[in-house]
Amino acid sequence: MNKIKVNLDKRSSHSYDIFIGQNILDRIALLIAKSSHAANYTIISDGTVSSLYGETVMSALRKTGCPVDLIEFPPGETSKTMETALSLIEQLADRGVDRTSCLIALGGGVTGDMVGFIASVYMRSIPYIQVPTTLLAQVDSSIGGKTGIDLFNGKNLVGTFCQPQAVYIDLQFLATLPDVEFTNGLAEIIKYGVIDDPDLLSTIESELSFIRDRNIDNLATIVAHSCKIKKGIVEIDERDMGVRRILNFGHTIGHALESASGYTISHGNAVSVGMIAAARVSEKLNHLPASERQRIEDIIQRVGLLDRIPATLKTGDIVSRMKHDKKKAGNAVHFVLLKKIGVPFINGIVDEGIIRETIEELRQ
Ligand code: ADP
Ligand code: ZN
Repeated sequence: MNKIKVNLDKRSSHSYDIFIGQNILDRIALLIAKSSHAANYTIISDGTVSSLYGETVMSALRKTGCPVDLIEFPPGETSKTMETALSLIEQLADRGVDRTSCLIALGGGVTGDMVGFIASVYMRSIPYIQVPTTLLAQVDSSIGGKTGIDLFNGKNLVGTFCQPQAVYIDLQFLATLPDVEFTNGLAEIIKYGVIDDPDLLSTIESELSFIRDRNIDNLATIVAHSCKIKKGIVEIDERDMGVRRILNFGHTIGHALESASGYTISHGNAVSVGMIAAARVSEKLNHLPASERQRIEDIIQRVGLLDRIPATLKTGDIVSRMKHDKKKAGNAVHFVLLKKIGVPFINGIVDEGIIRETIEELRQ
């Protein structure tokens, strides 16, 4: 089992470990029992993950002698609402969960964001643990303490920063993950390679067929590599005030595409076209060499992620949604651009004409 420590400023948060391994549920249960000192545990999971893994995780924890309970909610982003949060919170109160308890988020990013949020507000905050089961959650959303709930007006508009007690990643969960969800997670791993480490990109390029087959050794390499990159960025900028914004590479246009499509384009696909757009803008502004831009486009195509903007989406709509993204500060849209692969920078002022031209170019 691989252990990666997330070192945070003691004045604001506690540091914690990310554990990565295969078939480690029994060991995870022992580690949880040994390190968290909670009087009892409540696993919160969506219906799909709960029916696949709920019993197994519960019985592993029970074997250690810990009282454990499980609460379910319906799967999917549409559940990431205040109504679901309130219903879960009321169930916690009914079951007598209190500040001596610990919540366990067993599931993908939706579950992690939801449980993190509940843990941060229930009884003025109780501890929680992340057990991510999607590739996206394992490499991205379970690390860094961002919690969130969607409003009608947009995704993650309500949320907190609240770090988990620990993150336990069992790669075995990925065996049952549908292909589309797996590919979604690969988009974020490509992003890490592009913004931080050309070697990670080379690994994806050379080992893609093994990765697609979900070969555990290959997955272990890219998941651990991604977790290290994410934790390194979170350590420097826990609250997303500066360098953490580079994690938004591909997300400025990506988020706009997701919402312009009414969320019919998945996050991974939207971010992929967004990364291609950001690479093209970087090239147009004479920062990024054409060969490096091409390398990014090639890997996105090979993985089978979206590389073109659907013809039905209007340029004006995409641009205006981009300007309304919550991540903009004042009037400047924060665009993450590249000097080369592994060297991103944040550019507050990108001429709207270049953005429009790039969107038109990428239209199917
Ligand atoms: P994400 O992790 O991409 O943010 P979700 O939390 O909504 O998104 O998870 C995506 C979908 O995958 C959900 O329908 C969820 O129930 C399902 N899921 C999560 N983990 C697994 C798994 N290990 N095996 C099968 N399905 C899973
Ligand atoms: Zn993302």
